[in-house]
Amino acid sequence: MLSRLDLPTVLLFYNTSLLAGAFAIIHVRRNSWRPDGLMALAAAYLMLAAGAALAWNGEEAALPPAVWTHGSLLLGLVGYAVFFAGIRAMSGHRSVRWGRLMTPVLLCFLAGLITGFPLDNLSRAGAFHVAAVLSLAGSAHEMLRNHRLEALPSSRLLAALLALSGGVYALRLVFILNGTAGSAGFSLAFFVQMFCHFGVALMVATISKERAEVRLAQLADTDPLTGVGNRRWLGTRLPKQLRGHSAVLQLDLDRFKQINDRHGHAAGDAVLVAFANCLKAQLRESDLLARTGGEEFLVYTPNVTEAVARMIAERLRASVEQLRIVEDGTPLPVTTSIGVAWVADGSSPTPDCLARADAMLYEAKREGRNRVAFSTMPPQATDTAAS
Ligand code: GH3
Ligand code: MG
Ligand code: MG
Repeated sequence: MLSRLDLPTVLLFYNTSLLAGAFAIIHVRRNSWRPDGLMALAAAYLMLAAGAALAWNGEEAALPPAVWTHGSLLLGLVGYAVFFAGIRAMSGHRSVRWGRLMTPVLLCFLAGLITGFPLDNLSRAGAFHVAAVLSLAGSAHEMLRNHRLEALPSSRLLAALLALSGGVYALRLVFILNGTAGSAGFSLAFFVQMFCHFGVALMVATISKERAEVRLAQLADTDPLTGVGNRRWLGTRLPKQLRGHSAVLQLDLDRFKQINDRHGHAAGDAVLVAFANCLKAQLRESDLLARTGGEEFLVYTPNVTEAVARMIAERLRASVEQLRIVEDGTPLPVTTSIGVAWVADGSSPTPDCLARADAMLYEAKREGRNRVAFSTMPPQATDTAAS
């Protein structure tokens, strides 16, 4: 059935897909928090549609050949250059070098004006196909590179569609260079392109939605002031049982209320940010740090001996004491008390460990603040031990 597709009908579908794609992308852009590249993509779709319409009207002898051949080639070349720019900007926040991108396009157009090669159907189609293959292959590459930075489910699918689209043009280019390109082949190629254009617009919309979901999840899990995880995030990351040789540390700033009262809430906020950054700088990748309350933070550190857990807590306490925070020329003294629950052997239910660390924090406060109170969780009976 596909071999009986006639070119006018397929071109109508092709142009409809480009127009629908452009409007879909413009709509997505209006509602997107990261609209980079989307306007360029929509503009590219519209230019490609205009180029195809111009070529079709020219074929119907409605326009002088010099106008529609040069015009449709220019729209096709610029359209695919802008398409690549749009995908690049959309994928990874990377800058687009418009000068470098447009120079070969303009050179090709000028060469066409001088030599008149676009008047020959196969030469014009060849130049258009080369531009399309380069643009689509480059765009697929940009999406794959982006997938390594931002693993969205749809970015690979978009890369695959771009590669398919570029592959079809590459195949057509081989037929053009062989001189075996026929109109049935063109119809089939444009039919596949129609499918790809719809798919690309759909994937662009889906990627925009996936990015919004990732951002919402990040916002829901992050403390907006300090940028560390919040209590909700911690709940999803802490295991239900803390394994042997791991520790939880409850930290609470000493006499923090006085800082707010004497220097203002903004100074208090600056102290909280400096406190969180100081803790973050001391911890390993495998440790967890969360702000669990106003000026209370929790650290979970796995795979530590008792001596190392003690050393980490003491190091954190000392580095907070050494913080030099100055507000309006006045140094703000900051210290923290730390309660530690370290799990010896076996494992211990996490709520028990948190309660113990809390009790130790209370102990550290009671003993005068700016100190560490340490407790070892007693070994729990395990299934293995019981059998
Ligand atoms: P202690 O040594 O016993 O811990 O004394 P404290 O003053 O630190 O303890 P308290 O719990 O009485 O005070 C905590 C203060 O933290 C009270 C509250 O106004 C302040 N706070 C909570 N969240 C924030 C915040 O986001 N920003 C600022 N600036 N202050 C906050
Ligand atoms: Mg406090
Ligand atoms: Mg407190």
